[in-house]
Amino acid sequence: MKVSVIGASVSGLFTAYLLAKEGVEVEVYERGNVLGWPPRTLIVTNKINEILDFIPEEAIINRIRYVELFSRSRSARLELSSPDLVVEREKLLNLLARLAKEAGAKMVFNHQFEGFAQFGRKIVVSLRNLETGEEHRRSTDILIGADGALSAVSRAASRNGHHLTALVQAKVLLPEKANADTSQVWFDSDQTKYFHWLIPESNRVGAVGLITENIQEADACLKVFLKKRGLETLEFQTALIPMHHFEWLGGFLTPGRNVFVVGDAAGQVKVTTVGGVVTGLHGARALATAVLNGKNYRKELRELKLELDLHLLVRRVLNWFNEKDYDSLLSMLDGGLKDILQEWTRDELSNSFLSLILKEPRLITLGAKALLKSLL
Ligand SMILES: Cc1cc2nc3c(=O)[nH]c(=O)nc-3n(C[C@H](O)[C@H](O)[C@H](O)COP(=O)(O)OP(=O)(O)OC[C@H]3O[C@@H](n4cnc5c(N)ncnc54)[C@H](O)[C@@H]3O)c2cc1C
Repeated sequence: MKVSVIGASVSGLFTAYLLAKEGVEVEVYERGNVLGWPPRTLIVTNKINEILDFIPEEAIINRIRYVELFSRSRSARLELSSPDLVVEREKLLNLLARLAKEAGAKMVFNHQFEGFAQFGRKIVVSLRNLETGEEHRRSTDILIGADGALSAVSRAASRNGHHLTALVQAKVLLPEKANADTSQVWFDSDQTKYFHWLIPESNRVGAVGLITENIQEADACLKVFLKKRGLETLEFQTALIPMHHFEWLGGFLTPGRNVFVVGDAAGQVKVTTVGGVVTGLHGARALATAVLNGKNYRKELRELKLELDLHLLVRRVLNWFNEKDYDSLLSMLDGGLKDILQEWTRDELSNSFLSLILKEPRLITLGAKALLKSLL
């Protein structure tokens, strides 16, 4: 069996590794000429270790033990039972690429996926060599699109794509009062439906960011935030992020059942925080299991889908929160909610969701009020 993976990033490389180590012939095509460009600071929960089945030690640049949350007039501090990991994307990709190559996967850079055609059980993939401009055709049994938010594989299979949101992040010199083991989150519903964050990478440098509907808006809001706090900017990181929706998480895309998408290409992103690394890796594991065992990818994705659907539900509620609602939410943390949020990571909402509601039934009223606003 031959598998062609489009996209050498988190989800493509992990899928390639899992398949190659079981003896599958795998080729990964990447349009870039290096791994991990543009640079990106990522914060992930330690669920990443469970999904990878190893600790990506060489990619971890910091560990976050505390999270401070701020609304207009309240604040709360969480002490995480398992620290969040700050990861340098380039190092993580180099690690995954090395594992994939050692397992036998072939990596081809400067090759852009342009389309595919199905001939019986076979797929012919069209690729353009971006150095020479030449077009190549490759025959394969399975095609996997791990080609990000604007997935060309998904579009070639006539899917319309995902609703996208904009994420802007700036690398800054860490303010004097900030601690390297503490990330900070500010809820300011006048500026964004999401939040602003500060993630320390070290004692010296951190990443400040926010998410809004479009890049211009995100850019403008971030600049106001940086100015207000007097933060010195070293560089900007910007991108569009796909939003998970209830209906679909990536089954097969063609009647031949041999074209799939994974990671951002499949919208496998937690829409509360727009984190897509752990969920993309989870999707990759589900896809590799399905391919290796001839199982149904959609079924293998059930656990991830439940997790992402719950995040979507929470996001739909938070989208209608005002400053007062965030004040109420943070004031509730001092009850038993805090213990649950400290115990379970944000990649384990399906484990904590019921406990949160049982511990603090006022969450239902707060959520119902927000949902009612969405209907008016
Ligand atoms: C600034 C920023 C900060 C972020 N921070 C976090 C965070 O803290 N935590 C978190 O969990 N997530 C974070 N995310 C989201 C996370 O980075 C993505 O969810 C994750 O990288 C998705 O990985 P992927 O492998 O699915 O896709 P991508 O990383 O988007 O990779 C797609 C790959 O496919 C290649 N490609 C695209 N089209 C083609 C084509 N036609 N032919 C060949 N190759 C192609 C691209 O060059 C790329 O290498 C952040 C995103 C951004 C932009």
